[in-house]
Amino acid sequence: MRMEMKIMGKFKDLTGLKFGKLTVIEQAGHDKYNKILWKCKCDCGKETITHGRDLVNEHCKSCGCLLNSNRKEEGRFKGLSKTRIYTIWKGMNQRCNNPNCEAYSYYGAKGIDICDEWKGTQGFFNFLAWSLENGYEKDLTIDRMDGNKGYSPSNCRWADWSTQRRNQNRTVAVNQYGTWNLKQPLPEPYRESEE
Ligand SMILES: [Zn+2]
Repeated sequence: MRMEMKIMGKFKDLTGLKFGKLTVIEQAGHDKYNKILWKCKCDCGKETITHGRDLVNEHCKSCGCLLNSNRKEEGRFKGLSKTRIYTIWKGMNQRCNNPNCEAYSYYGAKGIDICDEWKGTQGFFNFLAWSLENGYEKDLTIDRMDGNKGYSPSNCRWADWSTQRRNQNRTVAVNQYGTWNLKQPLPEPYRESEE
């Protein structure tokens, strides 16, 4: 619901229009600079009064609950940053996106990427939900079933070391390690998660 700024110069009835989560109920007088105020009802049920300009410019999209929920989300995100799943998610991001990361040459540089669903803050929550729904356990690691494909729900699973080692062996074999002895520990860049 974007409108041109210029219409705000003159009176424009905003009653009934919706901006973000706010539906304009009625005009609610003027502020001390004689700017028109509008009473709005938020999707969450609360009422709030705001300037038409802020509605039209989308500066004000809720009664404040949107901001609060974003803040809550951020807080939750920070709170989870000490968890093992977060460390794994972070490591995945580093390997795929940070050229300064040691393992980047085996991942990002080779086109191994993270699906959009798992990118960014919301992506972490999606990854967390997927993990919990798909057998995440503390002693399991994230495993890409097809080593040539990136991180996504369809190509990943939580696997124990021996499964992952067997799987990685196939990948490793075609990369640089020749025939890999399964009894040897994996070379560092191939460890997909750190405890
Ligand atoms: Zn609200």
